[in-house]
Amino acid sequence: MIRMMNKKERHILSLSGGKDSAALAIFMRERIENMEYVFCVTRKELKATYANIYKIDAYLGNTSIRLNPDYSFDHWLQVFGGFLPSPQARWCTKQLKLKPFEQYCGDDLVYSYIGIRAEEDRIGYISHNPNIQPIYPFREEGITKRDVIKILDESGLGLPEYYKWRSRSGCYFCFFQRKAEWIKLKQHHPDLFESAKSYEKISDSNERSFTWVQGIPLSEMEKRECEILKQEEINKARRSKNRTNRPLSQVFGAIDDEDDDYDSSCIICYL
Ligand code: SF4
Repeated sequence: MIRMMNKKERHILSLSGGKDSAALAIFMRERIENMEYVFCVTRKELKATYANIYKIDAYLGNTSIRLNPDYSFDHWLQVFGGFLPSPQARWCTKQLKLKPFEQYCGDDLVYSYIGIRAEEDRIGYISHNPNIQPIYPFREEGITKRDVIKILDESGLGLPEYYKWRSRSGCYFCFFQRKAEWIKLKQHHPDLFESAKSYEKISDSNERSFTWVQGIPLSEMEKRECEILKQEEINKARRSKNRTNRPLSQVFGAIDDEDDDYDSSCIICYL
């Protein structure tokens, strides 16, 4: 751990509204005094995500600080010429999450606590700012997914409600969601699905088409609802079968494989 002279030291845990950061907050509560809890708000989250944040706040007895971007998603969409964010052009993460977080940290020496589990093979968000240093308590303590579920169960918080049909927190239109999750968004929140659809621009030319999923507009996806859900079941069965060939750490860590694709997720959202 690098020590920096003359800088105020702070400990910050960024909540995503998801299970890992919630479990980390519970885990760290007695370990670090003066932990600051923050939540980067995009205003495009599900209501259930906010509800989960309120529950965590109540548990911690501490209202997490809401970090709001200077400008909205819609503002940045205009700036980027209607070009929807994608895994290759993730301007949303930068503008709506990274910047507000770094602004909040300022020049202080910040230890940023990240809920990446022991069995996960990813590093999450690492700021280019040298005064923000990542800390991985779950990885250091060998905490796996099974432990995370246990921590949440024992605290009484449990899993966020949306985990029944969706594997991530973050924006309702997050382009990292699987096709089946888009269909489930339509089933659970038809209004939000329609709203996501309204962001898409379909043109004869590929260069001028902007869709959340490359090459497949949501209007097309909804026509293929049955096929997509069936394929999801097949994939699930396949993943479950493959699990028997995994290293033991992963076998013991896994409850199911619904969210094992974090590598491609919005890393700041899983701080
Ligand atoms: S949750 Fe998805 S859409 Fe929202 S900021 Fe993160 S990467 Fe972008």
